[in-house]
Amino acid sequence: MNIPDLPPGQALLGQRVLVLGIANEHSIAYGCAKVFRALGADLALTYLNEKARPHVEPLARELGADIFLPCDVGEAGSLEAVFEAIAARWGRLDIGLHSIAFAPREDLQGRLADSSAEGFARAMDISCHSFIRMARLAEPLMTGGGTLIAMSYHGAAKVVPNYNLMGPVKAALECAVRYLAYEMGPRDIRVHAVSPGPLKTRAASGLKDFDELLAEASARAPIGELVDIEDVGLTTAFLATPYARRLTGTTTYVDGGLSIMG
Ligand code: NAD
Repeated sequence: MNIPDLPPGQALLGQRVLVLGIANEHSIAYGCAKVFRALGADLALTYLNEKARPHVEPLARELGADIFLPCDVGEAGSLEAVFEAIAARWGRLDIGLHSIAFAPREDLQGRLADSSAEGFARAMDISCHSFIRMARLAEPLMTGGGTLIAMSYHGAAKVVPNYNLMGPVKAALECAVRYLAYEMGPRDIRVHAVSPGPLKTRAASGLKDFDELLAEASARAPIGELVDIEDVGLTTAFLATPYARRLTGTTTYVDGGLSIMG
């Protein structure tokens, strides 16, 4: 039997990882970056803009990030500049995590039926198409194969009250994951969506009545409590290890079983 020989606690030793989406210490991306680092990976981290930088920089320092750059995926050339820096410094990339989402507040808080074309398009661009751009830029750097992961949510598959236009946006993201998995499979690039249960983060605070969703999740989930960002990080990291080498195109729930409930 050919069991991958992973040194204990070093399953990602020397892996080069790009993490997009740390805003602060509550960010899901931070939980993932912590686990990647704890398993031996080298990190490239980004921050949205100068206003966000003071919140992210101490975390990047704590995690010993090799590369730390601004990245606003809505700005032409910004994501490209991150990949140029990765090519110059590392010459390759093994893992890419996309943990970003955005929708204009008035569109996010209203009914999908009332969403504006501009708001919907912007949500789709930042939250979904930027993952496609990220995959395209990563592909030539993933010379030894690789793993690409995007954060989704159960509102993609079922109606979750107040998730509104983000439902169809996340559905598109999960579908994009499957097509990218198909297109990049021959290069040994595996592509996944991870679907966490609700977590109190800045992005989530834009959803109406989010505290009720949290309370309901902990009451109804079979494990009886909310997941935390490190739980999400552990599953995300697993998907990038050789133990997951024949998995691709999946949406993996990290929700304490909440999504199995009727
Ligand atoms: P967060 O606010 O910590 O992270 C969202 C990130 O998106 C921030 O770092 C922000 O800077 C980034 N972002 C927004 N616009 C951007 C742009 N134009 N360019 C680059 N980055 C941009 O919140 P989070 O909950 O950690 O969100 C991370 C991901 O997890 C999102 O995709 C979100 O939809 C998903 N998610 C969240 C929950 C939850 O309950 N919090 C549940 C399931 C999935």
